[in-house]
Amino acid sequence: KPAKQRQRVPVVPQGIERDAFIAALEELGGQLGKENVEVNDKPLVDGWYMEHPNTHDMMTILDEEEFVASAVVYPSTTEEVQSIVQWANKHKIPIFPISMGRNLGYGGAAPRVRGSVVIDLGRRMNRILDINPEDYTCLVEPGVSYYGLYEAIKERGYDHLWIDVPDLGGGSVIGNAVDRGVGYTPYGDHWACHSGLEVVLPTGEVIRTGMGALPGNNTWQTFPYGFGPFSDGIFSQSNYGIVTKMGMTLMPNPGGYEGFMYTFPKEEDLAPLIDIIRPLRISMILENVAQLRHVTQSVAARGIPRSKFYSGSGPIPMDIVHKAAAEQPVGDHSWGYYGMCYGPEHIRKHKLAIIDAEFKKIPGARKIDPKSLPEDEYYFARERVAAGIPDIHELRWVNWTPNGAHIAFSPVSPIRGTDATALNDLGRRIHDKYGIDFFPAFIVGLREMHLIVEIVFDRDDPERKKAALDCLRDLVEEAAKLGYGEYRTHLVLMDQVAGTYNWNDSALMKFNEKLKDALDPNGILAPGRCGIWPKRYRNRGWEM
Ligand code: FAD
Repeated sequence: KPAKQRQRVPVVPQGIERDAFIAALEELGGQLGKENVEVNDKPLVDGWYMEHPNTHDMMTILDEEEFVASAVVYPSTTEEVQSIVQWANKHKIPIFPISMGRNLGYGGAAPRVRGSVVIDLGRRMNRILDINPEDYTCLVEPGVSYYGLYEAIKERGYDHLWIDVPDLGGGSVIGNAVDRGVGYTPYGDHWACHSGLEVVLPTGEVIRTGMGALPGNNTWQTFPYGFGPFSDGIFSQSNYGIVTKMGMTLMPNPGGYEGFMYTFPKEEDLAPLIDIIRPLRISMILENVAQLRHVTQSVAARGIPRSKFYSGSGPIPMDIVHKAAAEQPVGDHSWGYYGMCYGPEHIRKHKLAIIDAEFKKIPGARKIDPKSLPEDEYYFARERVAAGIPDIHELRWVNWTPNGAHIAFSPVSPIRGTDATALNDLGRRIHDKYGIDFFPAFIVGLREMHLIVEIVFDRDDPERKKAALDCLRDLVEEAAKLGYGEYRTHLVLMDQVAGTYNWNDSALMKFNEKLKDALDPNGILAPGRCGIWPKRYRNRGWEM
């Protein structure tokens, strides 16, 4: 998408005059080097996934100027991160750390408070500090992407080590984990698989968590807990610290793998299918974080725009979707299960036989023969991702609309047919109300599933953006009434989602606020992230 040449008045953080702000940035430039402090005074360029901006959300649902940085700074060491934090406290300037800023669908690189100074950790702090081939662990800085880690492991000839990747491999291993993102091997719960953090606190001190607190230890990446309270949790989906190093466990190469796909013909197959999946998943016969996708998104995943199938308004009619699916290599269906079986062939065949017998209990279930599919079929991207190989094929469904952008509704539930149906029906009803195509995908973890519903919209069409946001707000509210909450959300919805976790007179948020005020008395670090506002901002009109 070409750069927008819109005239803009560069933003400064609220509460500081422009001249004082520029002087403060010069002072910071003296510490980091002038070239590592950039004022955001140029046109906002959206770029694309691999050349994404670090000044704003390239897939913004609001006006681009709403969540926008006043400046971006590039530290190269933990000590420099400490200096930035001390500087922010001195001038009471809000700062917002990103690792790589590819948090697309959840806010990209944008800060929650307009005019914050974005700390782009990834540009210069991008070293792989350790890959341990005996312990199957690594220690990384924020700028290490899945691609980077994967290639480093290959270069060192460690074929016995695998990584886990989300759908897109250009993100940061740290950034994804601290936002509690997911991938698709048995190590798909990234936060659960990390071990050890180094964190700069909002007042500038540095801590190492778990075994990292014991000088000279050699277990920082193998035993996450150490001794005493397990503090790591407060540094994920929060604004209590800046993570400068993180340990991650690596999966052993399972000695072989085989992707598989089943399709199911009817919408109503969802509930019985989920009930079949649950015991298989909990007992690890279905070994990976697999996806059960609706046919509409599978049609879109071929990268063909919606307009080639339908030019009317309102959601694309299902008979058109089925006709399109029937003409595609996988063929017509309502739900598609993309799974992976690990291990040598003699082990795989037993697990695959159980899966086949169970899935075929659904009338009309079909196992797709991968040999019947063309090389660029979406199925193979799923197979690569489930084998820990970074990929970007998943971006294709974002082309469903012109100037495609997306934003996610991501509630969690147990792996039960009744829950799947309740959420699916709710999603369909509210999408229909706003005339939006419905893309549900159930991502099945060990005891729960994330329903990821991606709303794809034209980022240059204010009406469709408004419809998408209204639809999301309705979804969050209606889901909460049924007892469902989101596992993660976009900046614009953080207050609303946090507000649904309100048991016992919002006791949890009161606790979060107490922590925030104790750790960040000047309220400089990522104010408002995940609905946590420091005292200086709280109840002063920042919530949305
Ligand atoms: P960042 O943008 O750097 O970080 C995310 C947020 O975490 C930041 O905004 C910041 O608030 C906080 N943060 C980051 N680093 C630090 C730090 N060092 N200290 C303190 N706070 C920090 N996501 C998934 O999880 N799984 C998927 O399968 C997936 N599929 C996607 C498919 C598509 C088509 C698209 C467009 C997106 C998808 N995403 C998915 C969302 C997103 O792309 C990834 O989660 C991505 O890894 C997040 O971006 P990042 O790693 O660059 O993190």
